[in-house]
Amino acid sequence: MGRPLDRIYLDHNATTPLSPEALSAMTEVLARAHGNPSSTHAEGADARRRIEEARRRVARALGAGDAEIVFTAGATEANNSVLHALASTADAPGHLVVTAIEHPSVLEPAAALEGLGWRCTRLGVDGEGRIDIEEMRRVVTAQTRLVSVILANNETGVIQDLAAVRAALDGCDAWLHVDATQAVGKWPVDFMALGADTLSLSAHKFGGPKGSGCLIMRRGTPFAALLLGGGQEKRLRGGTENVAGIVGLGVACEVAHRDLQGRMKRYAALRDRLFERIVAGIPDARRNAPVAHCLPNTLNVELPGQEGDVLLQALDVEGVAVSVGAACHSGSVSPSHVLVAMGRSPEQARASLRLSVGEGVDAAQVDRAADLLLELVGRTAGGPGRAPQRGSDGAPQRGSDGAPKGAQRGD
Ligand code: PMP
Repeated sequence: MGRPLDRIYLDHNATTPLSPEALSAMTEVLARAHGNPSSTHAEGADARRRIEEARRRVARALGAGDAEIVFTAGATEANNSVLHALASTADAPGHLVVTAIEHPSVLEPAAALEGLGWRCTRLGVDGEGRIDIEEMRRVVTAQTRLVSVILANNETGVIQDLAAVRAALDGCDAWLHVDATQAVGKWPVDFMALGADTLSLSAHKFGGPKGSGCLIMRRGTPFAALLLGGGQEKRLRGGTENVAGIVGLGVACEVAHRDLQGRMKRYAALRDRLFERIVAGIPDARRNAPVAHCLPNTLNVELPGQEGDVLLQALDVEGVAVSVGAACHSGSVSPSHVLVAMGRSPEQARASLRLSVGEGVDAAQVDRAADLLLELVGRTAGGPGRAPQRGSDGAPQRGSDGAPKGAQRGD
């Protein structure tokens, strides 16, 4: 990456830059607080105090009340922990329900449970990316042990109606797990109000560090630790705690909630400005998620006839970072499972880009990114061979002027 300061980063759903507050809190821990939180001397007590402060910060920001907060190495671990605990505490394999648009860190362990004799129902979504609550009512039975719903989808930003999900599950014993990884810091999340049994999140999606997350758990939820070891986290997660990561999570969570409504407004204005500028140049561009129930920072847009992957590479060369599908899937050529579940054809899915704004993005950057995108699409519309050509590593090749080959400037 040649000139990082000039770059325009529109991939905040993949990850976010560390907030200055989280950075300074973590630096302080790394420089000064080297104690092991399990040690009983002063250094250990200092590290323990910092962890407990982070727990209080998360609980306050997310309305966790007296729920257990178990720190993990991110949301993948938190999600896996839930499915592991489900299987470990059940007398016999039962039934679980997941949405078809969950993150792979839920879908993969769910598939693994199927291999152990569990029955798994994958709930479909409509063209707007929402689950059908009536269908959920129909599939949930007395044998259903877990229902897992992604609050905000990482690819499209679509928000599910959790109040309706909770209401549909009333009177039923199923454990409700909510993957709120993408929602935290961009959408109000109140654990107690959601009525979930467990909720997962990840610090790096809201200005905290990578490799740090947590599982919030209603007291009394049957649980069995995924990681067994020294009995840390009240025996719910073995392993010496990542003190700096946990402190960074706590501070980032607090900062992200200081003016959440203001933040949401700013993000939505940038997202809508981006779309308006794109659609002014590409009239058949269309949002894959209606704004009425979409994260304010996420624009997943279909550009008919285009190859999202090729545009991503060309934009990258021009200094703009965007995504197709999810970053966790990059390198795979298969169309996004989320867009396909929404009824898009593989071609439509491949013609879609995800642009996600966040801290540090301003209107001038959004305008520049949209203009570059229109320019690139204009060039590819010139006929075959105009799209950027890629080298053996898949990256677009540059001409002598630094522009991607096949998408030269001044065409
Ligand atoms: N769930 C969702 C919805 C996500 O977007 C992600 C990150 N892409 C994860 C889970 C996994 O989080 P982590 O990167 O902390 O493992």
